[in-house]
Amino acid sequence: MWPSEGQGGSCVADCLFCGIVKGEIPSEKVYEDDRVLAFKDINPVAPVHVLLIPKEHHRDVIEAADRDPAVLGHLFTVASKLAKELGLSEKGFRVVNNFGKDGGQTVFHLHFHLIGGRQLTWPPG
Ligand code: ADP
Repeated sequence: MWPSEGQGGSCVADCLFCGIVKGEIPSEKVYEDDRVLAFKDINPVAPVHVLLIPKEHHRDVIEAADRDPAVLGHLFTVASKLAKELGLSEKGFRVVNNFGKDGGQTVFHLHFHLIGGRQLTWPPG
């Protein structure tokens, strides 16, 4: 069982991003409301690299879709608004979710990457 695999919903012990939500682990916040937090990725792959997470713990997008599908729409709405605010809406940007081992997910608290500020390539690795 992954340390961050729990019942979903509330904060989970030993989950890095739950620690950020609780303020126990520092982060550079760029947006916050009652359901969602956005902060700068610690290892940015582009000039703009923001992570958007639900405050409630869901290990991945499938768990969130089962337990709280509305939060997925909210995360995309916030990502779109942030992209515009951060000056990405003219040239373009990408919103990415890595799911599971083959998808490259390393932190098992649902998150979307908002990436932009340079020409992005396709397909990803
Ligand atoms: P990957 O590590 O392959 O990008 P994920 O999609 O699970 O896989 O992304 C986890 C992201 O979390 C990574 O981009 C990583 O740089 C970022 N990250 C890890 N720890 C922190 C932290 N303390 N603050 C901000 N971002 C973090």
